[in-house]
Amino acid sequence: MVSGREIEIGKPTAATVTPEWRRAHAGSGMTSRLILAYVERAGGRQAVDRVLARSDLAGVEAELRDENSWFSYETKLALWAAAEEELDDPKIAEHVGTSVLDFSVGHALKRALRALGSPELVYGNVVRANSKFNWAHRLEVVDKGPTRIRLRYTDVSGVGYHRYDCEYTTGLLTTVPQLFGLPPARVSHPVCGARGHGSCEFEVDWMASLQGPKRAAVGLGAGVLALAGAGALAAPILLPVAGGILIVGGAVIAQRAITFTGRRVHALETRVREQHDAAERLLASLGDLSSDLRLDEVLDQITEKAQTAVGGKEFALFLADAGGMRADRHSGIPSSSLAALEAWATRAGDELSRGAVVVDDLRTVPSLEKLTQHPDLPLGSMCAAPLVFRDQRLGVLTALAHGSTVFLPGDVASLSAYAVHAAIALSNARLVERLERQAAEDPLTGLANQRAFERACVAEFSRAEREAGSVSIVIVDVDHFKAINDAFGHPYGDQVLCGVADALRSSVRPHDTVARMGGEEFAILLPGTDPEAAYAIAERARAAIGEVPIPDRVLRSSAGVASGSPPAVTPRHLVQQADRALYEAKRRGRGQTVASREDFTTVSTSAS
Ligand code: GH3
Ligand code: MG
Ligand code: MG
Repeated sequence: MVSGREIEIGKPTAATVTPEWRRAHAGSGMTSRLILAYVERAGGRQAVDRVLARSDLAGVEAELRDENSWFSYETKLALWAAAEEELDDPKIAEHVGTSVLDFSVGHALKRALRALGSPELVYGNVVRANSKFNWAHRLEVVDKGPTRIRLRYTDVSGVGYHRYDCEYTTGLLTTVPQLFGLPPARVSHPVCGARGHGSCEFEVDWMASLQGPKRAAVGLGAGVLALAGAGALAAPILLPVAGGILIVGGAVIAQRAITFTGRRVHALETRVREQHDAAERLLASLGDLSSDLRLDEVLDQITEKAQTAVGGKEFALFLADAGGMRADRHSGIPSSSLAALEAWATRAGDELSRGAVVVDDLRTVPSLEKLTQHPDLPLGSMCAAPLVFRDQRLGVLTALAHGSTVFLPGDVASLSAYAVHAAIALSNARLVERLERQAAEDPLTGLANQRAFERACVAEFSRAEREAGSVSIVIVDVDHFKAINDAFGHPYGDQVLCGVADALRSSVRPHDTVARMGGEEFAILLPGTDPEAAYAIAERARAAIGEVPIPDRVLRSSAGVASGSPPAVTPRHLVQQADRALYEAKRRGRGQTVASREDFTTVSTSAS
């Protein structure tokens, strides 16, 4: 396990997923998108159509242009062969590779690589970069110096080696210094799997900075001075020649230095622009996260937008509860893998409290090893960022990739920054939810309050109208409640009211609404309930209230019931009717239920 802050550069790791899976995912959408873009630039739209037809891929152009899709090794080779034939270019793969910076392909990867700061660090991270778009072969560092590196390219899926891959890799490797405005690298390919060796090896050397032209200038100056000195002694006539060489040579070198500096400035500008874009994207995702304050929506957004903000294949969001971290949202990760991740996220709490954690190879963590072997979705590596707000651990957001050693330092930084925003959004949404709950809740009994009851009425009446159903309302009032307060005190009266609330809750179905309307008066909203059933429920509720234990007496209550079918009745009318029925029950001596008729006269009574 490697923490996000101490991420190791270029550590080679072994294969984590099965060879079959690797073969099916040998070609990345990044490569196919680049090939099609190159063909289109060289030969126009018709050339693309011909390449697609020739490779039998005409139906899947959208997927081929989608950087997040994957193709089999065979598909990749078919595309290369068709492009080679179409453009009549036997070095097509190398040419496509060297042109990668010309096209708008792999933005996130280019940005993450450029953020590393130098060609040396990019070549050192080539394991991670390669894992992002090729699983059939592994690329690793064999040997390196400050401005040269030797890389080995090994088949890890049984597909063997093909010159297209060698040429494409050669082309891509030459472009790395160009990310930083430096001249392209020189790449040689002394050991080649396609030419019968056991693997491929690439030798790369590059110019790290302006040192090259400067040294050349000093060398040229010294040489010319020596020539001039010797010439002055031997043949004064040579002096102007030396001067001429110095002027012409100096001009050439100055021109090179200007070009060189221009390229560097351009590269730095690109980097600033990319960082600006990344910051904008992060801000936009923050805007999305904060634009909704409903908890459910925010949780959906956190996982959905993580892909845009960070780039990655799979995401899972774990939320802290009393027992540890629980998976809340995810991008389709199998349940056995989620369970293992939950246990890991719970255990890794301390480590996560210090920042993001990268696991480059899930096989190195015994409890996560089985994630690499899942038949439907094998996962090879993970980057987990804590969701912390005001020292409170709210959860963990994890990005998961299929290959091992995939996450670059830039990816880790993006995920961490995104997790900070997500934690704020989550905390705000929870606060709003709590306030809304409090605003809708009677603080003493926890029942809905009058406001929430009215809102529930609006929703249920409109549903009943749509479904041509009926609605009933029961209003229950405790009889002589003042006497309870007088006898046992107000706090005891409060306890009795809580007992009444429990009695009412237990008398109704889950989708009915029980509310405390004020004092010792309660209301029950009964959707889809006719007058007879509502009457029975009112009687059941009163019986339950009679069971609330009170010393030396039985708690009695009265109820009024009203029923109707919207839109003929509105919530206000029905509440009024139930109120009048309740009043009638009180008038008739309390301890009974009275049902209202449409004409507000009572139809039945029962005393208890
Ligand atoms: P009736 O049978 O006519 O309904 O008689 P009643 O005593 O129940 O009704 P009345 O309206 O005269 O008195 C209501 C009592 O309920 C008076 C008030 O102190 C008490 N009460 C209202 N709200 C609360 C409360 O939150 N806690 C307690 N303990 N008592 C409350
Ligand atoms: Mg009362
Ligand atoms: Mg009352």
